[in-house]
Amino acid sequence: MDRIRAAARDLRDADAAVALTGAGVSAPSGVPPFRGEDGIWNEYDPDALDVWRFRREPGAFWADWLDLRADLLDADPEPNPAHEALADLSAAGRLDALVTQNIDGLHRDAGSEEVVELHGNARRAVCRNCGWTTSADDAVARAESGDLPPRCDACDGALKPDAVLFGEQLPRDALVRARELAADSEAFLVAGSSLTVEPAASLPARAAESGATLIVVNLDETPLDARADYVFRGDVTEVLPALREAVGE
Ligand SMILES: [Zn+2]
Repeated sequence: MDRIRAAARDLRDADAAVALTGAGVSAPSGVPPFRGEDGIWNEYDPDALDVWRFRREPGAFWADWLDLRADLLDADPEPNPAHEALADLSAAGRLDALVTQNIDGLHRDAGSEEVVELHGNARRAVCRNCGWTTSADDAVARAESGDLPPRCDACDGALKPDAVLFGEQLPRDALVRARELAADSEAFLVAGSSLTVEPAASLPARAAESGATLIVVNLDETPLDARADYVFRGDVTEVLPALREAVGE
């Protein structure tokens, strides 16, 4: 508990604090991870869901996407205590922004407002031609009624899920913003990310290089543990609420 208090003090003292979250924060809400033993990519062929397939056969892509999406979101996941603790820290002015690798939108559901989505958001669909967006529910409803692929209202282009597909660049604005936030932070909190996928892996390193206090909360080891000021090898739904509690003391 002393380490939690010390980390909380550093978080409270920081003029700029940023959190980075990964699949480990969504897992307790029942959202399966993409990678690893029980990952989505053990069930689905990544080649069927990459951007080249979308361009080649958008209708067939959407048929497969509907299946994947059902596995990912149809249990209607809700924010868990880790999402809530982070939203509380933001509301209390202790966290300036959240950078996330997750595409499920649960941070916004929990009330976090300043969310940078590195891999997009599977709850939106976007027209690749003109940028028109609609909710994924709307696009999915059209696809399920046989409109494969669902099309843009403005230009009739094929809609694409607004999550980053294999073969696609990450959204540039989000990437630039995440790097700025990391470089300017005085405390950088990693939660539920194994820090093995770029660019997430380099964000905490960038923060640490700029002198930020680095706090890592993850079930497994990460490559940044050795550089971290605090490492909590535990469940995010327990450690983050404890941290929020301690920050408020
Ligand atoms: Zn369009």
